[in-house]
Amino acid sequence: MKASRFFIGTLKEAPADAEIVSHQLMVRAGMIRRVAGGIYDYLPLGLRSIRKVEAIVRDEMEKAGALELLMPAVQPAELWQESGRWVKYGHELLRLKDRHDREFVIGPTHEEVVTDIARREIRSYRQLPVNFYQIQTKFRDEIRPRFGVMRGREFIMKDAYSFDRDVESLKLTYQKMYDAYVRIFSRMGLTFRAVAADNGSIGGTGSHEFQVIADTGEDAIVYCPTSDYAANIEAAEALPLLASRAAPAETMVKTATPGKAKCEDVAELLGIPLERTIKSIVMAVDAPEGEPRIVLLLIRGDHAINEVKVSKLPGLADARMATEQEIVDAFGAKPGYLGPIGTRKPLTVIADSTVANMSDFVVGANEVDYHLTGVNWGRDLPEPTVADVREVVAGDPSPDGKGVLNICRGIEVGQVFQLGTKYSDSMNATYLDESGKPQPMVMGCYGIGITRVLGAAIEQNFDERGIIWPESIAPFEVVVCPMGYDRSETVRAEADRVYGELKAAGIDAILDDRGERPGVMFADWELIGVPHRLVIGDRGLKEGKVEYQSRRDTEPTLLVAADAAGVVA
Ligand code: ATP
Ligand code: MG
Ligand code: MG
Ligand code: MG
Repeated sequence: MKASRFFIGTLKEAPADAEIVSHQLMVRAGMIRRVAGGIYDYLPLGLRSIRKVEAIVRDEMEKAGALELLMPAVQPAELWQESGRWVKYGHELLRLKDRHDREFVIGPTHEEVVTDIARREIRSYRQLPVNFYQIQTKFRDEIRPRFGVMRGREFIMKDAYSFDRDVESLKLTYQKMYDAYVRIFSRMGLTFRAVAADNGSIGGTGSHEFQVIADTGEDAIVYCPTSDYAANIEAAEALPLLASRAAPAETMVKTATPGKAKCEDVAELLGIPLERTIKSIVMAVDAPEGEPRIVLLLIRGDHAINEVKVSKLPGLADARMATEQEIVDAFGAKPGYLGPIGTRKPLTVIADSTVANMSDFVVGANEVDYHLTGVNWGRDLPEPTVADVREVVAGDPSPDGKGVLNICRGIEVGQVFQLGTKYSDSMNATYLDESGKPQPMVMGCYGIGITRVLGAAIEQNFDERGIIWPESIAPFEVVVCPMGYDRSETVRAEADRVYGELKAAGIDAILDDRGERPGVMFADWELIGVPHRLVIGDRGLKEGKVEYQSRRDTEPTLLVAADAAGVVA
């Protein structure tokens, strides 16, 4: 590629809404531009990195035996009604109508569509296992799109869906995908951890998230530095997690602008007797499928569980009593944690008052009159810092007994999930076994945030000058910078020769033939983050030398011009 024929859209300033470094640098480097909240253009430079991420993912998916297909982004409502998610998925699901008033959704994920394929196309056990994947644009109407491509509303995902005859076979497929993910993120040069993401409802650990370690990550990870134990914080310990998300009661009463609610208000709102609002803890949680659930734990003075009330959105009207076991299942919490809550932080997050509007919460402490209404999650319940969470969990014994727990933050770049027969049951996807009997297909699903990977990679690789791309996903691997391409015949000839040699060796090189001043040229490529740079000038060529500098070096090294291409290969 010649820079004069490429589009370079570098900017001096980052946009005001860019809070984290990857967002700032992707805009400044000219990789993305905002079109609307959570919706971006991927400019030619950005698309080059996206294509490299995709190529690695495709390569490893094919090696693991997955088959690429492409499903529609626009999906009929009927499929979602069949699976039950039309009602359950909530506001992240973008719904629309065609000219005939038929309802559709823009796919946030594709379990329904792929299960529909499987039930139509797969007849016999002989066709199993099979694993279909696609790389495609998804839409999720995220409540808080932010951080650029990290939490977009429109984003690119690789999603795979496997179909097996039984759980045993699913576990083999799952392991293959897990191993492929380890290879994928290693090839991308990322520092990551695979963490348990649920409590294993179908036996063993049924799901893992692949988390890129970064302080700006939105997820908290609990791990044991001296063993293999690692889990996202929800899977690790539900109650301490949620406790950690709320400020201490005294702070809340001081800082929350909304009026302090009386215990009576809370009692009325939640439909519970007055005395039970005291020492009560209520939690609001996003269930895995995006179906928000409200769980209310009522705790007596002795901190033992009294009653548990579970309700589902929309409306507290269908609230019912839940068993302790249901709470344990819902949160993956150890029963022990349901007891001595009083020994943890004094208060917890809580139930949602308006129900339909998740941004308006009631918050309560286990103290009289420490309940608040009209609390706004983002404003009044600041996200916990690593330090906050560490205070809650760090130092606890690891569940595997092999050390103590620590906490770090992560960016979820992928997740693997054993679905079981959830969708094949609700959508009736069966195959015929050896004896000709219909059996439900046993499913797994496996996602990777293609565009999010770029943000995550930058969070781990940057300096004050700009991005430092891992080679495998850099928009260009090497830039050739001639000093006076338009002035010196010798420089031009040597730059063309080196560039030609790089291309011939299959290296993704760009030749900066724009005739810019060296300062401008270097600043652009350092901001863009190209990992290798070759500088070709008259002075060096007199000695038969060119300058080489890797993006992480502070000083250039002199190379024999004839060997220049070899340094990158
Ligand atoms: P998150 O917890 O960050 O909301 P998720 O668990 O809802 O993600 P999955 O349903 O597991 O996401 O989707 C698979 C992958 O898609 C995620 O691991 C993530 O890398 C990516 N992804 C999910 N939501 C977004 C988004 N809003 N913007 C960019 N990438 C996303
Ligand atoms: Mg999500
Ligand atoms: Mg997640
Ligand atoms: Mg996930």
